[in-house]
Amino acid sequence: LILPPFKNEGYIDPSNPEVRKKMKEALEKVANEKRDYDLLIGGKRYKTERKTRSINPSNPEEVVGTTSKASRELIDKAIEVAWEAFETWKHTPVEERVKPFLRAAQIMRERRYELDATMILEVGKNWLEADADLAEAIDFLEFYSREAVRYASQQPVVRIPNENNELVYIPLGVGAVIPPWNFPGAIMVGMTSAAAVSGNCVLLKPASDSPIIAAKFVEILHEAGLPEGVVNFVPGSGAEIGDYIVEHPKIRFISFTGSKEVGLRINELAAKHQPGQKWIKRVVLEMGGKDAVVVDETADLDAAADGIVASAFGFQGQKCSAGSRIIAVEAIYDELLEKVVEKTKKIKIGDVRDPENWLGPVVNESAMRKILSYIDIGKEEGRLVHGGKRVEGLPGYFLEPTIFADVDRYSRIAQEEIFGPVTAFIKAKDFNDAIDIANCTEYGLTGALYTKKRERIEFAKKVFHVGNLYFNRKCTGALVGVHPFGGFNMSGTDSKAGGRDYLLLFLQAKSISERI
Ligand code: NAP
Repeated sequence: LILPPFKNEGYIDPSNPEVRKKMKEALEKVANEKRDYDLLIGGKRYKTERKTRSINPSNPEEVVGTTSKASRELIDKAIEVAWEAFETWKHTPVEERVKPFLRAAQIMRERRYELDATMILEVGKNWLEADADLAEAIDFLEFYSREAVRYASQQPVVRIPNENNELVYIPLGVGAVIPPWNFPGAIMVGMTSAAAVSGNCVLLKPASDSPIIAAKFVEILHEAGLPEGVVNFVPGSGAEIGDYIVEHPKIRFISFTGSKEVGLRINELAAKHQPGQKWIKRVVLEMGGKDAVVVDETADLDAAADGIVASAFGFQGQKCSAGSRIIAVEAIYDELLEKVVEKTKKIKIGDVRDPENWLGPVVNESAMRKILSYIDIGKEEGRLVHGGKRVEGLPGYFLEPTIFADVDRYSRIAQEEIFGPVTAFIKAKDFNDAIDIANCTEYGLTGALYTKKRERIEFAKKVFHVGNLYFNRKCTGALVGVHPFGGFNMSGTDSKAGGRDYLLLFLQAKSISERI
């Protein structure tokens, strides 16, 4: 099977009147859907009494849709059905396996506005963030399909006389895919499709803040011809059914993206051997970040300030890659801070149905409370220079973009992931000190350095300890295939989503030798 070379999907242009018209229509249509989605297990739909309500954080009175919640019995059923489907799916030639994923990518292009609108309403992404999320989801489908073909092709082994030798990659079995809500399209689609296109069967348990976009994706996969039982949709609360899934002896692998706390719990529970379990569970964990943007005295400060605002406040700072620490050398610290504050003042906040609003709401009430409590901590630990409050007069969970200055490198707001529109300026004596500060958290996901000095770039390449390092650009916005994504230390297992190693996590190698 020969596919055209992978190319990243482009984005919509919200300034185009035609785009505006289509998106407004889509927003209205999706807002009125208010559908109740069933579980989907082996192609059969299951309704349950208990529901998850997905609400619009720009206006929490609006329900975007609901989903049934999976019970333990239905989880058991899904695992059983998935193993049955695996018997056929694992032997399905790769040419057939990739077809539904490539078709799904095409359907998603055709339904782009509706899917963007779903994310705008379900998690409060602005138009561009929602469309970038969708484009990334499409990229994952295209990229992993090509990767599946590559892994299914002949693998290099050393030749010796009198033997035919080969190495083939085979899938693992049935696994659980547990994504977060903050890239409700891209990460959910990426994790699910990587596992399934490799020949595995999965239970997809979406995040409770974003089950609707996941339900739509599962419908798209089946419309695209994915055989029943390969991807089973089992929404429900992680706190209620997460442990049950993770500890289940028939689960072969767990692919998780989310917080450090939940990731470490999964790691621990999955490590324990259960009666009847025949394998060591494979665990892929991508977790939080406390990412730094470092700026030295040679940097273009306007470019740095733009990059800082985008890194710190893009999607309300709710990215694992968000620039939540700004480390500036003494010589330019005040000037940079002033520029960032000036740019931050210009940010338009409000309901993201309106494309003029750049900063939307945080995802839910408990996230808002948690962020506000970190802001209180920040007031003790640093100097509040901008923001610091909930936005009054709006119904949603809107917080002002918040900047603290003169924060100590070891303070809580400089060490703990806040996951909201809050960033902390830390003063460094000089460039070397700045890199030491950047490396002084338990995380290691992304980082950026603004400098004009080549030797500093070369030095940072060696010692700035993050999975995704950027120079003279923001620390968010990794592109599939271009910037394989994943972090060090407490940021996770460095799985490098969107890279050539990723599918290997869902495969095992079999060495085959025949005497001739
Ligand atoms: P989260 O609270 O850890 O939840 C992630 C997923 O785990 C959700 O589906 C959640 O379900 C589920 N879950 C909760 N408790 C569970 C349990 N005991 N067992 C199994 N699953 C359980 O994280 P989040 O708030 O959705 O996402 C934000 C976090 O993700 C941040 O820390 C961010 O940095 C990180 N993140 C990392 C990356 C990366 O690539 N490194 C990318 C994006 C986000 P419920 O929703 O039902 O609770």
